[in-house]
Amino acid sequence: MRYIRLMAALPDDWSTRHSVLANARRTAALINTLSSADDRAPQPRQVAEVLREYGESEPVELAPDDVVRMRAAALLLREVFAAEDVDAAAAALNRLLAEQTGPLRLTSHGGSAPWHPHLDSHDDAPWNEWFLTSSCLALTVLLWDHQRPPGGLCASPACRNVYLTSGPGPARRYCSRRCATRERVAAHRRGQRATDTESGSGSGNS
Ligand SMILES: [Zn+2]
Repeated sequence: MRYIRLMAALPDDWSTRHSVLANARRTAALINTLSSADDRAPQPRQVAEVLREYGESEPVELAPDDVVRMRAAALLLREVFAAEDVDAAAAALNRLLAEQTGPLRLTSHGGSAPWHPHLDSHDDAPWNEWFLTSSCLALTVLLWDHQRPPGGLCASPACRNVYLTSGPGPARRYCSRRCATRERVAAHRRGQRATDTESGSGSGNS
């Protein structure tokens, strides 16, 4: 009882906000917002919205330059999601850990959060550095924990989203139910057209 009361007295997001999975979900959401278009960065307010959604405290102030640099980080992180298997994902993460992150350190942000690991140079590091390093850390722990790639690229040719590999069961291929449904419908139509063509031109062959 005492334990429950103690936990209840803590702010709601004290433990959940910093969980590895929460960080990885934020990584996927930021990559999808930052690299959805082929050649341009999104508006700073779109990125700020995602950061707030994942618990970033105010003020969330991003300059257009921050977003351009965060987009470059997102493109680097996509290589982890593009990996074919766990070995390739580990190799992609090892490259990023060697070239883009600092040594592992612990911070509590001056007592405002539980102690947790960071790979950026300091607590006030630029947005892009924080994004790249916190993402590398979360994806590394997920790969370590599950011994499989932490995520993948959506199999829909019309979509550029990444997704996290989640739970047991058959391997996931799409970022969302929406993409899965669209591709299932498209495949069904292709199958129907193939059947129509066969029955139209196939006279004499059957
Ligand atoms: Zn998709």
